[in-house]
This record gives sequence, C-alpha cells and structure tokens, in this order.
Amino acid sequence: MRILRGLAAPLLLLAIPAACRREAAPSVRIARPNVLLVTIDTLRADHVGCYGYTRAVTPTLDGLSAHGVRFITAVAHVPLTGPSHASILTGRTPLGHGMRDNGAYVLPGSVRTVAEDFRGAGYRTAAFVSGFPLSRRFGLDRGFETYDDHLPRGADPRRTAYVERTADRTTDAALHWLDAPRQGTPAPFFLWVHYFDPHAPYEPPPDFASRAATPYDGEIAFVDAQLARLLGRVGEGGPVLVLVTGDHGESLGEHGEDTHGIFIYDATLRVPFLLAGPGVPEGRVSGVVARGIDVAPTLLDYAGLPPRAVEGRSIRPAASGEDLEDAPTYSESLHAQLQYGWAPLHSWRTARFKLIEAPRMELYDLESDSSETRDRSAAEPARVDEMRQKLRKAMSTTTPAATQAIDAETAERLQALGYLGGGGTSQAPTPTGKDPKDGIGLATRLGRNGMSVARTEPLKAIPELTALLAEDPGMLVARRTRAVAYETAGQYEAAIRDLRALEKSGALTAEDSVVLGDSLRLAGRTKEAVGVLQRTAGKNPRFAQPWLSLAAVYVKQERSADAAAAYGKVLEIDPGHLEALRGLGDLALMRGDLEEAGRRYGQLVEADSADAGALAKLGVVKMRTGQAEQGIALFRKAVEREPRSGEALLYLAGALAANGRPTEALPLFERALEAGPRSSMALNGLGLTRLAVGDRPGAAAAFRESLRLDPKQPEVARTLAEMGGPR
Ligand SMILES: [Zn+2]
Repeated sequence: MRILRGLAAPLLLLAIPAACRREAAPSVRIARPNVLLVTIDTLRADHVGCYGYTRAVTPTLDGLSAHGVRFITAVAHVPLTGPSHASILTGRTPLGHGMRDNGAYVLPGSVRTVAEDFRGAGYRTAAFVSGFPLSRRFGLDRGFETYDDHLPRGADPRRTAYVERTADRTTDAALHWLDAPRQGTPAPFFLWVHYFDPHAPYEPPPDFASRAATPYDGEIAFVDAQLARLLGRVGEGGPVLVLVTGDHGESLGEHGEDTHGIFIYDATLRVPFLLAGPGVPEGRVSGVVARGIDVAPTLLDYAGLPPRAVEGRSIRPAASGEDLEDAPTYSESLHAQLQYGWAPLHSWRTARFKLIEAPRMELYDLESDSSETRDRSAAEPARVDEMRQKLRKAMSTTTPAATQAIDAETAERLQALGYLGGGGTSQAPTPTGKDPKDGIGLATRLGRNGMSVARTEPLKAIPELTALLAEDPGMLVARRTRAVAYETAGQYEAAIRDLRALEKSGALTAEDSVVLGDSLRLAGRTKEAVGVLQRTAGKNPRFAQPWLSLAAVYVKQERSADAAAAYGKVLEIDPGHLEALRGLGDLALMRGDLEEAGRRYGQLVEADSADAGALAKLGVVKMRTGQAEQGIALFRKAVEREPRSGEALLYLAGALAANGRPTEALPLFERALEAGPRSSMALNGLGLTRLAVGDRPGAAAAFRESLRLDPKQPEVARTLAEMGGPR
C-alpha cells in the first residue's frame, strides 16, 4: 500500500472556513424605501414582451410593467457598457462624466455617483456586476460599500478569462448579501444588480434556448427568470422601489451592424425602462422620453433624497401622470474613432426627430420611421441646421467635472482627439475620417472572422485580420486582435511586433500591455516581460491583471515570495479577488502551510459555492489534516459541480480508495481516466483499487499502461512482478 500512500500524498492536505466579515450598518433616522436598480446589458426594448414582442419569454419584466410604470421610449446615451452605466449612475451624459469608451477611461474622481448620494444619506450600498467593462478599476464602484465584480474564470476559450458572470451566479451573490445578518437597526439599502447574459455570444441554458425564438431571446428569458428570483427575495425586507433598464440594445444586423458600439441608431440605443414599488402607480404607460441620465435623479426623488444639479431630471411626475415636457437627448459613440480610426458619431434627439452628425449627416422622423431607414436630411435642411446648433451647443458646454480629474493617459487621448481644452468642440468642423456607414462592412468582417475566432481559430483569424489591415491600416482594433491571435497561435514574436506598433502610435492600452507582457514571457524574454508588466502596474494602480501576470512569471521562476507579494498587491486593489486568493492558496499548499491554504480556499468557496477547483483543493487540505470524511464530502461536491473534471474525480477516487472504500472508488477512477489526462498516477490508483477488489488481470493491465507512460517507476514494476505477470 506504499504506492497508494504515495498516490494519496499529492492529492491530500485543514481548513477553517473564513470568518464572515460583518459591517456595522449605519443607523438611519427616517424610514426610507429600499432601492433596487437592475441593469440588463444589451437589452433591446423591442425584444421584451411588454414592449410588444410577441415571441418574448419575459414574464417577470412584463409583470413589473403591469404592476408599475412602463416608459415606452427610453434611450441610452452611448451604445457601450462602461460609458452608458456611467450615465445611469451619475445623471450625466458622457460630455459630463468624461467616460467615453470601454476599457480606456476611468470615471473622474470629481464626478459624484448616485451610490455616494445614497451612502451619504445612511443607505447600505452594494453592487453586483457581471461584465468586465464594469470592473472596479473603471471607477463605477465609488459609493458602494460592497462592489462585487468577481467574474469566474470562463472555460470558454473564445473569451478572455473573467469577462462574464452568468445571471444565476450574480443573483446568488446578491441574495447572499441580502441574507447576511446585520447588527443594529437595519438601514435601507441601495442595491444595483447588473446582468450581462444577452451580450454576445448568445448561449442560453438549454431549457431557455428551447423555449425562446432565438438564442438572444433565450439569454433574455434566462435573465428574466433570475430577476424573478431576485425580486422574490428582495421584497421580504420591506417595500422596495425597483427600476429596471438597459445600458444599450443590440443591432442584430440592422444598418449592417451585428452587435453594438459603432452606430447610434435606436436599435442600439432604445432600452426598456420599468419602475415599480412604493409611490409608483400600477399599470401606467408613459409616453415621455426617459433617458439614462434620468435614472439617478428619479431614484433619489422616490427615496425622498434631495436632488442634485446634473444633466438628467426626475421623471417621477411623468410616472405619476403629470404633464412633463420631453427633454432632448444627447448621444454619442466615439468607438469608431477610438478603435477604428474613423469619424465619431454624435446625435441630438427630440421626442420625434433624430439628427446624427457624421461626415454624411442623417435626419430621421422617428414617428413615421422608427427603424431609421429613410434619411430626411436633404429634404429638411432647416431642421438639420437647427438641431445641429443645439447639438453643438451641448457639446461646447462640457461640465468642468469631465475635464478635471481624468488620469493623465485618458487626458492625453482626449486632447489628441480634440475633446479637451480651448472650448474647442463647438468650433470643430464636420467630423472627418471614414464615415462609419462606409466602414461597417469592414467592422462586421472584423467581428465575425477576427474577434470572434482570434482565440479559437487563430490561424483562420490571422490572414483575415491581415487582409483587413491592408485595406485600412488605421484599424487599431484589427491590429490589437491580431496580436491576440498571434499569441494564441504561439507566434509570440509576431504578437510582440503588433503590440510594439500600437505602442509607437500611442494606442497601447493597459490590456494590450498585459498581452505584451504575457507574450514576452511566453517567448522566453522574461526580463522584458517583468519590465513591461511592472510599468503597466505602476501606471494603472487599480488594474489587477499586470500583477497576476507578474505572479505567473514568479511562480514559473519558483520565486514564491515574489509571487505571493504580487498576489498581495492584487488583494490591495480588491480584497476578494478570486484568482489572487487561489494563487495564494496554491502557494501555501506548496510550502505546506495548511492553515493559510485552508483559509484561502475557504474564502473562494464562500464567494462561490460552485467553484469546483476550490472545493477540490479545500478537500485536499482536509485530507492532509486528517479530516477524511469532510475531504471526501468536498470532493463529492466538486464532482457534482464538474462531472467531467478529471482532477476532481481523481481526488475523490483516491480519497475513497485510501479510506477503505475500493468498490466506490473503482468506477470513479475509470471516469477520471476517461475525462483525462491518462496519468500514471491515475492508472496506479486504478490498478491498486482493482487489486483490492480482487481483479488481478485488470490491475496488471493498469500497471502496465502506467509503466508505458512512465517507465521509471520501480515500485510499480516490482508490484507487477510480484503479481506474477499476466495470466
Ligand atoms: Zn453593455
């Protein structure tokens, strides 16, 4: 049984579940309602039942509408997750809050968020977000006591790790927060829950896929079902004001655009806007235009908190059926300019007309042409002039907040694009550069044959991206994507060349720098990799990724103390960062510090009870500290969560075998080997277990295969010889 003990040793290792941290709730004097803000990413209004979509599976949203107020027309200011949420949370358009694109902008510290208002009024504030563009490093966490942006490591190679958390998990996390016991008089809460599922790729759970008309609708149906869970529990603690809206829509092929980001047509700007709860009439439908910037003032109004001077306004009067004149809406997308090197788009919208300022101006009568396919700019030059003047005036009155505390890198970019300083934009000429209408075909090719396959079929993506760059060398995003494809294909030097070219043109983002650092590391240029990653970490103090990449370098170099210090930096940025906790757990396990390993894995399991990797490692800690039954129970849970995980199956099989339960262990060893990898360790376990149940030929076969994989196992060879060879 020496081998068995040898087998069990690497599998096995104490855990004290992390003590729950409880924050004392500030006391509050006046009874105020709880407030729940739900934003559903990429949700087109016209794919929701109460907005007239007959094939919708959205009973929860429809129910909210029936029990509250539905705004027929609600518009976002930007078809991009980060900037649009910044408008929702600050009451300002991008002109006022300064966050102009995903990824490269941080909400300036001088711009107040509605969470700060609620917190200042004694509310408990918490946010649970599900997509990378809302990661805390972009500054939308300000004012939230709890900001949970923990995204599980996706198993999907088409995406970078940690880009999405599915609605069931986000709901679990929010409910966990709601259920946490609290001391003292409970203060009301302001809770923001963000769901990301309808964002591409559209892959709903099977039972939702089968009930919905399209996979996109299936994702919406899944979120709707999770929203029902959330609403069911959120109301248990007293009356709740609920506001549900979207950050932008999805083009679904309209105007030649597959997803969202470039154009500012209603396909990507019209979202649902539903209000329900104390003070909200039942079943009313309002025709007043609701805007993203109206969310924050409206929530404060219902909570009885003083208004703040922002660009948006409370639309409570409209909800109550009072007369409220429509306010115009400013919208923009600088995405084409910043990512593709084309012209930016800006628009001015009244209740009836929309002007889109582009190299070729567009004007739409939304009343008769809601799909914006009949441009009226040539027919109505006077209206174009009048609306354009209003647009220009809005653009020239950027509030100081947007230009103050922007970080140096962002300020540089805005300056280069003419958005900062000298009161310039009102005098700026008609935007130049390629009209996005002329470039959308390239963008579609880039999306379908480049971005969506760069990580799965890099060898297919690389020639297509190269062809696109030959047609339009200014498409930064094509170069960026090609670098990722090169890295995935193992062509590190080519990836480094593309990234250095981006750096030279001043377009290297912090994410790009991490890809550069990783490519340098994988190319064996460790010293340069460390230099790039350290510089990136220094310039982006709230960005965890460079530290995680540095930790990977140090782990490989067996510099455990440096690796632990790098993970420690990540925890300074985000005390609950899952990968840093996992890394520290693994380091502790390696040096035999079972107390710390148990604590770290325990934190992971507390944050996500379905984390199979953490459950298994915690099981190892239990085994190593002599708590076999607890260890086995944890391995079982891990296997339940991930029935195809060879690692979890092997742990469970090994633990059962080592604890005198070979008949239970046997089928698990077989499953572990099927799931792979076929390691000599797994085969030895199988062999010994077969021996224990009296299957000598089976045992011999397993040992022989083990020796074929790894001939240098004298103990296995001896056992085989003692068995007398094959019979
Ligand atoms: Zn979004």
